[in-house]
Amino acid sequence: MLQIKPKIFAIANQKGGVGKTTTTLNLAAAIAEAGFKVLVMDLDPQGNASTGLGSHADAREFTTYDVLIGTHVEPRFIQKTDIENIDLVPSTTDLSSADIELASAKNRSEKLRKVFGNSDLSKYDYVLLDCPPSLNVLTVNALIAAHALIIPLQSEFFALEGLSQLLMSVREVRDLGNPDLRIEGVVLTMYDARNRLSLQVEEDARENLGELVFKTVIPRNVRISEAPSFAMPVLSYDSRSKGAEAYRALAQEILARR
Ligand code: ADP
Ligand code: MG
Repeated sequence: MLQIKPKIFAIANQKGGVGKTTTTLNLAAAIAEAGFKVLVMDLDPQGNASTGLGSHADAREFTTYDVLIGTHVEPRFIQKTDIENIDLVPSTTDLSSADIELASAKNRSEKLRKVFGNSDLSKYDYVLLDCPPSLNVLTVNALIAAHALIIPLQSEFFALEGLSQLLMSVREVRDLGNPDLRIEGVVLTMYDARNRLSLQVEEDARENLGELVFKTVIPRNVRISEAPSFAMPVLSYDSRSKGAEAYRALAQEILARR
C-alpha cells in the first residue's frame, strides 16, 4: 500500500515546453524553503530537472531507470543537491530504453507504484515526479504512482485542447489502478498580463475548470528562464524575482491544503 507520507505529485502535460520542469524545480525549491523535505524524481530522459538542480550528467551513476527496473528506491539511487531539503533521483537518456523495455513488460504501468510501495521514503514530505512531454509509459507510471497531478498550462492558444486529452488519460489511470488520483490543480505558466491571449486563456480555464485552476499564475519572467543555465531554481538564482515569488505563492496554496 502507498503510505500517507510522502505525498507524491506528478507534474505532467503531454505538451513540451509548457513549464513542467520549471514548475517541478521551483515548486520543490519553494516547498523546501518552507522547511519540508522534497525528493525530485526526473522521469524525462532529457534530464532537464536533474541539470536544473545542479546534477552533472557524468555524475549520474544511478538514475530513475534503476528505480524502474528495480524493486525499491535504494539509498544509493538518491543524490543530495546543493539546495537544503531537496534530494534527487536524476535521469539520463538511458531512461528512453526503460520506456521501450517497460512497454513490453507485464504490469508495465504499475512498476513505479510497486517500487514506492516497497520503499521507505518517510523522511520526505513530498515527492515530485517531473514527467516527459508525452503520455508514454513513463508518464502513465507516474500517474499511477502519484496521489495527485499538477498540470502546468502554458498561457497560449490551443492550451486547453491538449488538456482534454490529458484529463481523459487521468480517467483511464483511475480505471487502470489508481482510483484515488486527484488533480491537485492546473497552473497557468508564462502568463503575461499585458497579453490579451494570456487573459483569454485564463478566463477560459477558470470558466471550464473552476476551482481546479490555482489562484496563483506564474508570470513570464526572464529570471525564470535564465536560472537553468546556472543549474539552479529561480528561488536560488534570484530569490526576490517575480518568478520566485510566484512559485512561493503556488507552494503556499498547496501547503495550505494539507
Ligand atoms: P517542459 O518541462 O514542459 O518541457 P520547461 O519547464 O522546460 O517545459 O520550460 C520550457 C522553456 O520555457 C524553458 O526554456 C524554460 O526556462 C522556459 N520557461 C518556463 N517557464 C517560464 C516562465 N514563467 N517565464 C519565462 N520562461 C519560462
Ligand atoms: Mg521538461
